[in-house]
Amino acid sequence: MSYKLYIPGPINVSEETYAAMCTPVVGHRSPDFVELYQSVQPGLQRLFMTSGPVFISTTSAWGVMEGSLRNCTRKKVLNCMCGAFSDKWFDVAQRCGKDAGALEFEWGRHVDPEAVRKELETGDYDCITLVHNETSTGVMNPLAEIMAVIREFPEVISIVDSVSSCSAVPIPMDELGIDVLLTGSQKALALPPGMAIFSVSQRALDRASELPDRGYYLDFHEFLKNHQKGMTPSTPVIPHINGLKHQLSVFEAEGLENRYARHARLNTMVHDWVERNGFELFPELQYASKSLTCVKNTREMDIPELNRLLKSRHNCVIDGGYGKIKGKTFRISNMGDETEESIGELLTNLDSVVRELF
Ligand SMILES: *Cc1c(COP(=O)(O)O)cnc(C)c1O
Repeated sequence: MSYKLYIPGPINVSEETYAAMCTPVVGHRSPDFVELYQSVQPGLQRLFMTSGPVFISTTSAWGVMEGSLRNCTRKKVLNCMCGAFSDKWFDVAQRCGKDAGALEFEWGRHVDPEAVRKELETGDYDCITLVHNETSTGVMNPLAEIMAVIREFPEVISIVDSVSSCSAVPIPMDELGIDVLLTGSQKALALPPGMAIFSVSQRALDRASELPDRGYYLDFHEFLKNHQKGMTPSTPVIPHINGLKHQLSVFEAEGLENRYARHARLNTMVHDWVERNGFELFPELQYASKSLTCVKNTREMDIPELNRLLKSRHNCVIDGGYGKIKGKTFRISNMGDETEESIGELLTNLDSVVRELF
């Protein structure tokens, strides 16, 4: 049974990417692997807009989200919270035994740079976590403004989650001074779940050196040492790296700027649909995500029924809302390889199903 996913992760994976993943596995300490690993570096550095190393982790994004806390928090971490993923990061920090502070915003609101400044001015913190695109609420935080504030505090290491925004909008890691930029495979990159990608600044590596309890599997210095030989610390998920190599070639062929522009156009198509059908965006328009749309279910539509009809008649599904806003909101993804045609088709299908429900 296969149907098309318009949920904000995992998202649809192209036939070509699946085919690339069927490339036979090679030994992970062989020259063939080194060639594969090194071949994806230039594309990853262009994507992350960094001159630093880009590491590949055989975990989902949470692996690196947790690992980064262990590598970067010496004193206390400030967790900027405005939705399910950013809220969870605070919980994870505590579970790692880290002293953590919560900077909370209502779901649907963005992280306010001035509130970040006020907290950091206490001098309590030497690390901060930020989810760029809060997938649960469809909020895209003002990254440049927040990073400008963080950069006023040289001791503070910034960890930024770009799981649902990396490759959908430009994220200039070096220019903004991001210390750890991480993403996962199954969202904006349009690969299957199971791999995370991250880059680490020299400042973050220096911080890691000071921390004796950063473990092994996600130790930044293990990644760096192996990276210098064109390898990963442990046996990596090689099929995903072949898939990634293919996806990076797709990005290059389209051109990253064109890719960002396409996401903006598709996102506008969905916003227009929302308005036409008498719904509202959950976040404020100014802070609305470009890679997905979180819609307030103002017409109290039966979303499980909507999805049942979408799936049985049109072979696709959207998302029925996440966590405490499940049912009160629904979400439509325009990440990855979607086109005017595919989003247009979804919206036409949604039109007919919504008509049927009312
Ligand atoms: C999906 C998601 C995650 C978690 O990713 P996993 O692959 O489940 O570890 C983290 N952050 C954001 C913003 C996400 O959308």
